[in-house]
Amino acid sequence: MKSKYLIALLLLCATGVSAQDPTQLKAKIAQLQRQVDSLTIAARPRPQGILSQMAFEPVEPIHTTEGVIPLDTLSTINDAVKVVIYNDNSWKYIRDKEFIKDSSVYVNYWDTKNLFPYNNVSLSELPSSIAIDLVDSLRSYHYPQKGKVRSPYGVRRWRQHQGVDIPLKTGDPVYSTFNGRVRISEYNRGGYGNLIIIRHDNGLETFYGHLSERFVQSGDWVEAGQVIGLGGSTGRSSGPHLHFETRYFGQTFDPERLIDFETGVLRRQTFLLKKSFFDIHSNAAQDFEQENEIDQPKPQVNPVYHKIKSGDTLGAIARRYGTTVSKICSLNGIKSTTILRIGRTLRVK
Ligand SMILES: [Zn+2]
Repeated sequence: MKSKYLIALLLLCATGVSAQDPTQLKAKIAQLQRQVDSLTIAARPRPQGILSQMAFEPVEPIHTTEGVIPLDTLSTINDAVKVVIYNDNSWKYIRDKEFIKDSSVYVNYWDTKNLFPYNNVSLSELPSSIAIDLVDSLRSYHYPQKGKVRSPYGVRRWRQHQGVDIPLKTGDPVYSTFNGRVRISEYNRGGYGNLIIIRHDNGLETFYGHLSERFVQSGDWVEAGQVIGLGGSTGRSSGPHLHFETRYFGQTFDPERLIDFETGVLRRQTFLLKKSFFDIHSNAAQDFEQENEIDQPKPQVNPVYHKIKSGDTLGAIARRYGTTVSKICSLNGIKSTTILRIGRTLRVK
């Protein structure tokens, strides 16, 4: 607890550094970095069963350095971690991509053509639950897009929604959620439109659909918080929104289990992914034919009825209710020549 507090303090001090001399700044950061590294290692609890490893604290999105130019990169005592210094005197940790390139996560089932390379992995082969470290010691997390979820994940009547829909304006930045490597960046004709799929160090994959622009290519290494593209409405979409999916071995689960999209906060550092979170049909693409029906709810019309009186004609009734004869006919399954029986009730709207 005490060392955690110290880290927070140190980070606060470090971000507050406003040295005029860049050499001095570098030296100061390198020194703080060494201190932080040693503290982090010392503060890490010894694993004692799965529950002791669980970290339930929510994680704030990292500060993005959008529009700021990196000046220099410094090594740290941790080979996988570097410090980047920016022209506005800010800095942040990044992981060294060379170091993680050999990770099996980026070798097994790596496919830059097929959206669903895990199709031959059946649900029964996956463990009943698995603990996933969502953030590393760099706390690398950023929301893909912030906002109230318009269409949630899950089965609803006739459809399976494989992700969440978050409203945005065309041109809004879309961020990589965690560190990772772009597996696919392409225009998808199945309905996703401009689609980016990123595989992350933690084994999860995230899908970003309907983008107006894609800034990354297949094979690119990306960091959490990097702008990977711009939001839009490409593909089968009825208005600008981000279709966002989280998958593990191809199986989708509710992204809201990880992220509170309204606040943009990651709900916890370690996520216990249970097999029961997967839907049996989830190892497949989103069916956007159905998504469209979700996006455009049919306007609910309160039905209006008319009781036929002597002298009524279909034409007169239609005029009176501001509709047409053919609409009244189709609502009631009658023909325009049908004889109107007095006292019969017709639906007119
Ligand atoms: Zn969607």
